[in-house]
Amino acid sequence: MTASGDTHWRPVEAELALWSAAGRTARLWLRDDDAYELTGALDRLVDMVGEHAIAATLAIIPALMTDALVAQVRDNPLLFPAAHGLWHRNHAGPADKKIELGGGRSVEAVLADLEESRDLMAQAFGALAVNMLVPPWNRISNAAAESVSATGFDVLSTYGWKPSTASVDHLNTHVDLIDWQSGRQGKPATRIASEITEALRVARDKDFAPIGILTHHLAHDAAAWTTLKALFNWSAGRDNIAWCSATDLLGR
Ligand SMILES: [Zn+2]
Repeated sequence: MTASGDTHWRPVEAELALWSAAGRTARLWLRDDDAYELTGALDRLVDMVGEHAIAATLAIIPALMTDALVAQVRDNPLLFPAAHGLWHRNHAGPADKKIELGGGRSVEAVLADLEESRDLMAQAFGALAVNMLVPPWNRISNAAAESVSATGFDVLSTYGWKPSTASVDHLNTHVDLIDWQSGRQGKPATRIASEITEALRVARDKDFAPIGILTHHLAHDAAAWTTLKALFNWSAGRDNIAWCSATDLLGR
């Protein structure tokens, strides 16, 4: 690793020293969204997590997933399937932020979709599915969130630290590899390092909560791949960081 590569991570290392002093290990988990078929981009992600033995939770679009994708996920012990809505369709009004699980739809219609999503995941993956719902665009109406448990899901995963209204456990992501506002560009490693540092600071005040790293293999530019690789390389072998599967973090 080059000297400049090392300097990216110095702020994280300073924060991690506080975790070590408290006798705590920082727990990271990886969630990758929008999988539905086998692509070169998915192969690249799977190769990278394989190289570092990092578990990845794949948020899969149930109504679109191919048999080949299902087979690959079932065959790879590092891949954990979660449901990414049902169709990943937008039901927001023209002026509103994108949402599948809410917007112009009744709560009954959303819950019916979620039941179908849950059934498709159970048929495809059986006990392997972590029973986690990842709402497309990280958005779900409060009314639907309050009734998620009735549809068979028992974990909800969105983005950020805001408290959940959900009737189920929450396991969120906090650091997004892509800057969606600036033309979907991959963030450089310096920026990811500073965002991880900030997330660790917040997590330290939340009883050392796990930090979720969010990726979207189909949307990665060269910068996103380079940064992800740099993050994996830097974290490898550090005894104060543990990459965890969602299953581990949920105690299942
Ligand atoms: Zn998505």
